[in-house]
Amino acid sequence: MRNRAVLVTGGAGFIGSHIVDKLINEGHSVRVIDNLSTGRLENLKHLEGNPNLEFIKGDLKNESDAEEAVRGVDAVFHFAANPEVRLSTTNPRTHFEENVVATFNLLEAMRKFGVRELIFASSSSVYGEPEEIPVGEEAPVRPVSVYGASKAACEDLIHAYSRLYGIKAVILRYANIVGPRLRHGVTYDLLMKLRKNTSELEVLGDGTQVRSYLYIDDAVEATMLAWKYSTGNYEVYNVGNEDWITVNDIVGVILNELKLSNVKIMHKPVLHGVGWPGDVKRIALRIDRLRAIGFKPRHNSIEAVKLTIRSLLNISNLE
Ligand code: NAD
Repeated sequence: MRNRAVLVTGGAGFIGSHIVDKLINEGHSVRVIDNLSTGRLENLKHLEGNPNLEFIKGDLKNESDAEEAVRGVDAVFHFAANPEVRLSTTNPRTHFEENVVATFNLLEAMRKFGVRELIFASSSSVYGEPEEIPVGEEAPVRPVSVYGASKAACEDLIHAYSRLYGIKAVILRYANIVGPRLRHGVTYDLLMKLRKNTSELEVLGDGTQVRSYLYIDDAVEATMLAWKYSTGNYEVYNVGNEDWITVNDIVGVILNELKLSNVKIMHKPVLHGVGWPGDVKRIALRIDRLRAIGFKPRHNSIEAVKLTIRSLLNISNLE
């Protein structure tokens, strides 16, 4: 693929910053827009002074910021969002604005400046509680969280823009992605709780919630394959692992890595054993479509979590 001018929204965040690294390594010119709400400049510090990276501190909720970011690029990797599924239950408007309104502004800016390629970070949460796992891309979209609904709404907007204005779109429905720079989600939360208190651990849910976890390097690889090898105008890919584990498995990995025993584990289930209203009990993704374009995860779910814990434990100022 020839060198391109690429915008990464949310490029100071966890996944976005790894995408930036990959794009720069491949010789592309990268512009990042990030409002640093959950992202951190530290995630891009190693690229300081790199002539192929431009950083805009801006907010996609503002139309003018979206336009400034989009002007002159060939493709957009849209990773900016509020990624906290749990918060979307207590603060739905924030998620609507940060996910749906921001995406609408971005699409409008793309329409205005004739940018015709979009890679969108969607989520497995669009499936809600599927009847069977692993779930394929053709399964109904039935989100049970406002976060999932906001991602589904973005997908629909993108579909319409793709049909109406010729934007070639790749939708990536990510499972739980973990790795260095992670700052949210169950793996991070459990580790942080144990760093504060090694005698007891509160686990949201009954611990049997099922998920698949994909290591960030595998997620980046899948993202690049989908960008390079998608041929249609609107294509949807599940991005997950081939296996799945429970929250209790994650607790086991963390206790092992921290060499802790005799920790009192306190499960806090609500409803049918989930961690909070809007949490999903069982979700895992079928990844045949990704496999067909050459994807094979290098790490299984347990390895992905283990590598993540090790990388987070190496950070001296982790908070
Ligand atoms: P993250 O919070 O680290 O990254 C999101 C980034 O977007 C942050 O840097 C934040 O500051 C920025 N941002 C938020 N709102 C913005 C706005 N209005 N304008 C500009 N920047 C804004 O989260 P992440 O885990 O890296 O997630 C990246 C994307 O992938 C998100 O869209 C998320 O919903 C999606 N996703 C993540 C996972 C996962 O497991 N991490 C799973 C499924 C989907």
